[in-house]
Amino acid sequence: MNVSIPADDDNFLRRECPTCEQQFKWHLGPINDEAAAEPTPDVYYCPLCGVPAGTDQWWTKEQLEYARARAMPDILAQLSNETGLHIDPTSDVPEAMVEPNDMDIVQSPCHPYEPIKVPTGHEQPIHCLVCGSVFAV
Ligand SMILES: [Zn+2]
Ligand SMILES: [Zn+2]
Repeated sequence: MNVSIPADDDNFLRRECPTCEQQFKWHLGPINDEAAAEPTPDVYYCPLCGVPAGTDQWWTKEQLEYARARAMPDILAQLSNETGLHIDPTSDVPEAMVEPNDMDIVQSPCHPYEPIKVPTGHEQPIHCLVCGSVFAV
């Protein structure tokens, strides 16, 4: 089962903070060799409120809902294979998600290899995704 969540044209993935529920984006995958050589952290810091959370805690409500809806026909098909029960898959599989190219790219001075996008006009300061340090752009 494979549901893909799209990134925008700059390869930034929309994220939602589990603490403040504001959205921002982080870059999908390392941006260069230097970034690739860095260890993957256990937590990321919310750029907007600075509270850390585990790296898998940042799905937006829309992404979770989309993943659930897209996966449902597969789950039903598997269930019907395993049990012999006949359940008609519902037809309301959502269209593929499209990620708009919104928000502004910022880089923290301490960890510039991990750029983020914050909502246009977001108030300073911003927290570094990697270490939580506050910076202004
Ligand atoms: Zn937050
Ligand atoms: Zn940092």
